[in-house]
Amino acid sequence: MNRDLYIDCDGVIYDSVKEAFLEMKSLGIDTTNQDQITEYFRNCNWEKLLRDANILNDSINKINKLVDSWMFLSIHVLTHVSSFYEAIYKTELLEPQMNRVDVITLPLGYAKEKVVNPVDNILVDDSLSKVKAWIKAGGIGVLFRSDVQGIITPFEISDDQDYFIINDLYDLLKVQHILNTPKPKTKTYN
Ligand SMILES: [Mg+2]
Repeated sequence: MNRDLYIDCDGVIYDSVKEAFLEMKSLGIDTTNQDQITEYFRNCNWEKLLRDANILNDSINKINKLVDSWMFLSIHVLTHVSSFYEAIYKTELLEPQMNRVDVITLPLGYAKEKVVNPVDNILVDDSLSKVKAWIKAGGIGVLFRSDVQGIITPFEISDDQDYFIINDLYDLLKVQHILNTPKPKTKTYN
């Protein structure tokens, strides 16, 4: 109840990254060239891209269920955009599908943790570098990966895995539960 939740759009709600790379290939764009990729996103038809992209793991319904759980102080979509058109289109597409969730857009290159307060708040993102930067700024990081089963808690895989991994947004209720469960005190011997 005491945390704000921020959810990325591309690669978490919509499978738009995969859809974009498919279109880039069909247009003959070199997908190893960052300048060409940036140029594509700046000019691409977001309306068509998001219409053609699949919703990942029923994400929109899951977000509405999270809202109804009242387990978060507030829930927002926090997404990078490469054009004004993309910001308007994403907002107009997403906001009517969700209850009490707003869409916050920020230009590419701006850090999510600089735009909203990360401290003790949760970011779900499919970008590991963005999750890491969020944690470094005092937030709780959740990496969204469509190829994992269930929920992976911090440090289950390795010593530097300081973030949760999920493939289903509804598992954020489990994340909240784990975060809210007091850790057992370790006994000290004098
Ligand atoms: Mg993303």
